[in-house]
Amino acid sequence: MTDQDNSAVEPLALFGGTFDPVHYGHLRCADEARQKLTLSKLYLLPAGTPVHRDVPQATVGQRLDMLELARTEFPHLLIDDRETRRSGPSYMVETLQELRVSFPDRPLILLVGQDAANLLHTWHRWKQLFELAHIVILTRPATHTRYEKNLAKQLQARSETDGRKLFDSKAGAVLQLEVEPVDVSATDIKHVIRSGGSPRSMLPATVLEYITANRLYLTN
Ligand code: ATP
Repeated sequence: MTDQDNSAVEPLALFGGTFDPVHYGHLRCADEARQKLTLSKLYLLPAGTPVHRDVPQATVGQRLDMLELARTEFPHLLIDDRETRRSGPSYMVETLQELRVSFPDRPLILLVGQDAANLLHTWHRWKQLFELAHIVILTRPATHTRYEKNLAKQLQARSETDGRKLFDSKAGAVLQLEVEPVDVSATDIKHVIRSGGSPRSMLPATVLEYITANRLYLTN
């Protein structure tokens, strides 16, 4: 993303993740959300050093390569690699602050799956996230909504049902968005590969070819 990426008043939308590896759960849900929110593009934002999870098995370079390969099927999904260029833990609040400096007047939208939303209260300086961006929560198969008390209060107070409203202010609203269920996770994919199977239907063929060629995820 460049600072020139300011041509339209369209909100800047970001979908953060480890993408170890990227799969159809990320790609289809993000692209469906993009369309429902009437956005021309959406940025996949790979974490450099994820905060709440184990160290990724693939290197940063490999995760970026796989995202780039996945894009051929999803041309409206772009990649923002800023967190991979930063040292230290990839705190989302710092990423959003950086974007706010570059785009002072633009609405920012942070998309998260329901499992990530359930843990928002554990994110670094989590209350500040709402001052910096709108939050869109995507439904995820087999994941229930379960919020900690203070988080539930914040989400309730900021709840919005009309996606167009996210164009009218820079930050602060929370929208729950139902997307077509895609029952895939990176964990499942790794499990299938380790067991000698092929997770063919779970991710783009180009990404699977890359995984095979680089002998990724064969061991724990
Ligand atoms: P893992 O299996 O290791 O937990 P993951 O598949 O959940 O990995 P991440 O890269 O950690 O992948 O997820 C990034 C974001 O994508 C999170 O907000 C997560 O909730 C969301 N997400 C991942 N898979 C799905 C899915 N199938 N449907 C909806 N959201 C998803």
